[in-house]
Amino acid sequence: MGPPGAGKGTQAKTLAVKLGLAHISTGDILRQNVAKATQLGAQAKEYMNKGLLVPDELVTKMVKDRLSQPDAAKGFILDGYPRNLKQAESLEAILKELAMGIDFVIDLDVDEKTVIERLSGRLACKGCNANYHIKNMPPKKPMICDNCGGALYQRQDDKEETIKKRLEVYRAESSPLIEHFRKENKLQQVFAGGDPEIVLNKIIELVSHDCHKV
Ligand code: ADP
Ligand code: ZN
Repeated sequence: MGPPGAGKGTQAKTLAVKLGLAHISTGDILRQNVAKATQLGAQAKEYMNKGLLVPDELVTKMVKDRLSQPDAAKGFILDGYPRNLKQAESLEAILKELAMGIDFVIDLDVDEKTVIERLSGRLACKGCNANYHIKNMPPKKPMICDNCGGALYQRQDDKEETIKKRLEVYRAESSPLIEHFRKENKLQQVFAGGDPEIVLNKIIELVSHDCHKV
């Protein structure tokens, strides 16, 4: 969890590779659907471009389908879901049905000034969804992905007006989830305003510490 620009995608992708887990990003799946002009993409596009949440039913069905795929059985990192209390309830029901569960909720804690600065300079890869930043994390070759050689682009929703709207939506709808998961004793908070490697190491430390206790 964490506001837009907290580093959820960056951290989740690296962690998934390191820990051998499936990375499930609702934002990435939605953007793929928009790019392929699927029915779901057509339904989601307007909401995404305005910085609003895509209706729960659409996203929840998508997450259920994704979690039912075989690679999720080895474990998964959810990135961008749940994003409100209703989605948290739906997720609980889905996981119960699939006999799976959540071990940790990592909240990436970062101030709004940092987030706005990060999002307005963010670049994403069309090929593999990797994230870069014009100044803080530039690709080796301009506008080309280091990982896959794909073209980099600025996301539609990374414009200043939309960034503000996304932050409002986060404050109103998503931040109440922090209390929800704290009550369930699953919440781990990590200061996410620093370098990505430092944040990653803290997360790994937290996760392995708790795993040793089990
Ligand atoms: P960020 O967290 O930086 O806003 P994401 O890629 O996670 O970026 O999400 C981009 C957009 O996709 C959101 O603004 C929203 O429109 C849509 N979206 C992603 N996940 C969800 C979700 N769980 N519920 C509803 N809409 C979602
Ligand atoms: Zn790439």
